Amino acid sequence: MTTIRHHLSDEMLLAYSAGDLPEAFNLVIATHVSMCDECRARLGAFDALGGAVIEEDFSAMSDGSLEACLMRIDGMAQATARAPRRGDGVFPAPLVDYVGGGLESVRWRPLGLGAKQAILKMGDTGASVRLLSIPGGAAMPDHGHSGLEMTLVLKGAFRDEKDRFGPGDIEIADDSLEHTPVAEDGETCICLAATQGPLRFNSLIPRLAQPFFRI
Ligand code: ZN
Ligand code: ZN
Repeated sequence: MTTIRHHLSDEMLLAYSAGDLPEAFNLVIATHVSMCDECRARLGAFDALGGAVIEEDFSAMSDGSLEACLMRIDGMAQATARAPRRGDGVFPAPLVDYVGGGLESVRWRPLGLGAKQAILKMGDTGASVRLLSIPGGAAMPDHGHSGLEMTLVLKGAFRDEKDRFGPGDIEIADDSLEHTPVAEDGETCICLAATQGPLRFNSLIPRLAQPFFRI
């Protein structure tokens, strides 16, 4: 088992525990948590904390809000029961559930130069999420971000100006970061990436292609 070096922040785990995030980020976080003992333990603590706060407020509640609260606790109990389940070898279980199968069931669209992506359908539009497959040695198009971007490595590794990201590592980028992730030589890098708002590309052709590829 490789060591995960890049984790989720407490703020992100708290927002996830509280159910405050768009579905696209929830999927990336659930997938990382299923791969990462450390984040799973921290999330368990936040889930328990959320339940304790709700119990304390119970006596002061009207009927309607009590009902809403019970539904939330029900959701939390399910959330607390999150345990690592086995996926298909590349995809952890939360991702298998979303895709409806393993790596072989992904319907890829070519991005050029051997790179490909598959956009996953989400129930809300707060953020989008896609699978990316980048051949070893190839770069993702040069881009900045108009919002938060979360990239989780499932297989292989990539490097950018900042660091190296291997299986289970999560890179958080925002509008302050312009980076060029490059897949490490020798192995195709498969990532799960959620982005809030459209990315703006720096070179002309990818910018023109953006409405088609929805990167
Ligand atoms: Zn982690
Ligand atoms: Zn990026």
